[in-house]
Amino acid sequence: MDSFYIIDGHCDTIEIIADQGLNMFQEQKCQVTLEGLKMGKVGLQFFAAFVAPKGSRPCLQRGLKLIDAYHAMTDQYQHSFQRVLKFDDIAQAVQQGKIGSMLTVEGGDVLEGELLNLRILYSLGVRAMTLTWNYRNEIADGVLESRSKGGLSSFGHDVINEMNRLGMLIDVSHLSENGFYSVLEASKKPVAATHSNAWALQPHPRNLTNDQIKSLANSGGVMGINFYPDFLSGQQASLNDIIRHIEYIIDLAGIDVVVFGSDFDGIERLPEGISGPQHFEKVINALFKRNYKEEDVRKVAYKNYLRLLKDIL
Ligand SMILES: [Zn+2]
Repeated sequence: MDSFYIIDGHCDTIEIIADQGLNMFQEQKCQVTLEGLKMGKVGLQFFAAFVAPKGSRPCLQRGLKLIDAYHAMTDQYQHSFQRVLKFDDIAQAVQQGKIGSMLTVEGGDVLEGELLNLRILYSLGVRAMTLTWNYRNEIADGVLESRSKGGLSSFGHDVINEMNRLGMLIDVSHLSENGFYSVLEASKKPVAATHSNAWALQPHPRNLTNDQIKSLANSGGVMGINFYPDFLSGQQASLNDIIRHIEYIIDLAGIDVVVFGSDFDGIERLPEGISGPQHFEKVINALFKRNYKEEDVRKVAYKNYLRLLKDIL
């Protein structure tokens, strides 16, 4: 039988490690710990270098600091991590019982409007980029620019083409609705909303409308279920709410679009009974209890992401 594992498309652990000078995944400080990743059978974890649009300029310098922290962390724990730079690295990590780690950047502000910075980030190991955070940058508007609701700029189009050419995953979470649709139209490859839920169940601007979800599914993309209570159901949430979003999206757009995007270490509150990657098992067990076929649960756990990454990396 193929080994069963989890691919989680978003966490913000690097920021805590870089800013608090931690040299390990310290329990109490990080939701994502080395132990938790192992217990949760995480075969691939995306690690985001979050470059906030405001307050941390120059953005490229900030991005480099976080990337350096990622390299230091994966060096220090090289017996546990395998850096994923190409598709085959994922299988290699899983076979060796290691955790695949993929470096991503959240916030295209890091490019400071220069395409050459994208190529430099790629050469430093970045394999995915969230185009915007919640506000406007050189690429497009984020979800909170509710007046202008801008789509992709000319520079944004250049970024899409270059990401397609280099083999980088385009992340549309946080992007304005107009931006979202212009990316789907412009990109030659399917894209991911790495950490966004269903707006129909929880009408938060960070969530995706039914039409967005269907368009994403029709173009071969994926969306990662985010564990932040505000995006699930409100102030408080439970495992049940995670399942509710998964089921809703499957019923709406099919099984091939759903993946995980926990947002661990980027969220200050968690659903009841979920405190880190060690609890992915609870979600998996709940899906089996609802009589999903094994193949379908595998798709949500890792196979949908494998399909997408095989096409891109
Ligand atoms: Zn985010």
